[in-house]
Amino acid sequence: MIKKRRVFSGTRPTGHLHLGNYFGAIKGYLKLQDEKNLDCIYAIVDLHGVTSPYNPKTYPKEVTDLVLDYLACGLDPKKSHLIIQSHLPQHLELAYYLSTIYPVSRLEQLPTYKEKKLEQPKYINLGLLYYPILMAADILIYKAELVPVGKDQLPHLELTREVARMFNNYFGKTFPEPQAFLTSGSYVPSLTGEGKMSKTNENSYISLIDDLDTIKKKLAKVPTDLGHGNKVPQQGGINALLTLVELFMGKLKREQYEKQYLTTGIKYQPLKNELAQYIYNYLKPIQAKRAYYQKHPQLIKEIIENGERYALGIVQKTLLEVKRKMGFR
Ligand code: ADP
Repeated sequence: MIKKRRVFSGTRPTGHLHLGNYFGAIKGYLKLQDEKNLDCIYAIVDLHGVTSPYNPKTYPKEVTDLVLDYLACGLDPKKSHLIIQSHLPQHLELAYYLSTIYPVSRLEQLPTYKEKKLEQPKYINLGLLYYPILMAADILIYKAELVPVGKDQLPHLELTREVARMFNNYFGKTFPEPQAFLTSGSYVPSLTGEGKMSKTNENSYISLIDDLDTIKKKLAKVPTDLGHGNKVPQQGGINALLTLVELFMGKLKREQYEKQYLTTGIKYQPLKNELAQYIYNYLKPIQAKRAYYQKHPQLIKEIIENGERYALGIVQKTLLEVKRKMGFR
């Protein structure tokens, strides 16, 4: 039997998936689950979600919402395995072992940690500093070789590769160095025109569960100029709109709008209306699928249990190997 290469990725259960998550990460998940020579494990990384302020009362619902979003997007339990990170505490155990070989000073220098410190000054906890080590453990415990992620995650993946190298150097070859798998929509800009579309900025995103009216209202707020100039903007609201035009209406349509921008100028109202309709048409079947799964909680339970049964065999095996190599057994 040919050994399949393993794929792992995860998302935090902090609100519904948005178009950035979908095009940057989920599209990659879907593409890879269709490859016969790959073995995909996708996670709801709920242990990561609690490093930022959260509500323990609503957290279980957030986790279920993300499972529903995953399935609605087309994650197929016949082709890939779905797990909830905290149900497999072996991730934490491996993270501890890995933490003993990685310098604190380097974690403190990570741009993402520095950004989080500014974002949540009253919530600078040890878990936040430890985040990249747990992420490395999430990936390495499956000996994953491919990680579908958005571009914003590349520095963390680089750290995972470094941790793998360090462990292999100290204790002998154990882990592969995982590679990122990027999709063509690996960076979806924010609707505000600044930075990336993200759950942490409510004005920045279109969620997968938004209805037509909501999408129209959100697009209406995207800042634009009079749509005339000698260079098509590579940033800001116009760039955000054109990126979405390309994703939903095709490259040709984008080129037509770019031509308009450079000549007559773009009429943004019709563009935004047409785009809203395209986005909604795209999301409609996803929303219908979500509604189906929402009515079948038993099915969801079985999907997660099956995924975790499969994952358990792998994580136990890796931990045993790590403990032996580190001199615990
Ligand atoms: P968020 O920043 O919205 O909280 P997460 O950090 O949970 O999203 O990221 C989940 C996945 O979605 C990651 O693989 C990340 O790279 C991807 N992702 C998030 N935002 C974007 C974006 N705007 N464009 C492309 N990919 C994104």
